Amino acid sequence: MKILKMPKQNLDLFVSVLPAFGEVYAPVKRGKGFAFDKPSLWSDVQMKYTRTILPPKKLMLPPRETTIAFDPVEGFQDQLAMASKPMVLFGVHPYDIYGLNILDRVFAQSKYPDPYYIARRKNTAIIGMDFEPDDKHFAGSMNSDFVDSGFDLFLSDIGDDYLVLVGTSRGDDIVVMSGCLMQTPGEADFAAYKRRSKDRRASYKTKLEMEDLPEIMEMEYHSKAWEDIGNRCLSCGSCSMACPTCYCFDINDEVELGSRKGQRIRSWDSCLFKTHALVAGGENFREERSSRIKFRYYHKQRGFVAEYGRPSCIGCGRCVEVCPAEINIISVIETIRGERDGIASSAPKSV
Ligand code: SF4
Ligand code: SF4
Repeated sequence: MKILKMPKQNLDLFVSVLPAFGEVYAPVKRGKGFAFDKPSLWSDVQMKYTRTILPPKKLMLPPRETTIAFDPVEGFQDQLAMASKPMVLFGVHPYDIYGLNILDRVFAQSKYPDPYYIARRKNTAIIGMDFEPDDKHFAGSMNSDFVDSGFDLFLSDIGDDYLVLVGTSRGDDIVVMSGCLMQTPGEADFAAYKRRSKDRRASYKTKLEMEDLPEIMEMEYHSKAWEDIGNRCLSCGSCSMACPTCYCFDINDEVELGSRKGQRIRSWDSCLFKTHALVAGGENFREERSSRIKFRYYHKQRGFVAEYGRPSCIGCGRCVEVCPAEINIISVIETIRGERDGIASSAPKSV
């Protein structure tokens, strides 16, 4: 992997080349939080943000998208071309790049590749950026604090400069187009990178013991804790909407009134919703809230490990931030591990 450095004062010139690679999205302020959006001015872009309200998944797998349009005269029209529009996603934290790498396994590297997701992923340049963890991040425990793939360029703050990892040939093209803005780093730059990387790893306030968690979850399948958590959960689905690696969706054909024209719409769904496991005939496989929230935890922390060799959680802390019932994934896992009594307090033990 090629490593370069860029003085921070060159950033404005550097970002001016990005529109040549697609429509640029970057973290901007949105209410009390942050969102990946098209910045009207580059000065709106937040270089130090905690986490965006919705993860980059919203651009690869939009909350609602038309996959095909149908018409009795014109037939079916695939909307794939819409998904192939080039984009540049600037300022993505490493755990969110990891989240995209996990979605790749499901949508691009599985038995059933998804052409819409693949088109967006292929046509999106990802420029990563490091971050300082707050009390809700636990990416350090989930091995998603650093990524070595899934990005085109990755910027790490080393003081007056960024150390720039070039991850792909498209990243190289961006470097070439940015002319002389990048330089060759030296020993002092590498030393600064190592020092900052060590400090960041040490700065995690929230840590989670992941070793043997799948086995412990197997043992605790009938734990009363699931009922307690289910009693508190409102089934609002916010945790799965905000999660970078939750990917359930629903498909509906919407037909225009008085006509046979329409669209096939794919929209986000959540395993927390009561109707998620409802099937024809009225049988609901997960009617109880406790069984639905238990399913979410078992899928992310146990089922995914069995299928893909790691949990699908990347420790972004979004589900902690958005839950109106203050259900905290750290507290839940600590309860299941027997390290705390119940989930009454949402504050993680290790904070
Ligand atoms: S489960 Fe929570 S912390 Fe883990 S990736 Fe999803 S939103 Fe982030
Ligand atoms: S955000 Fe909280 S209340 Fe809403 S479904 Fe998730 S766990 Fe339940």
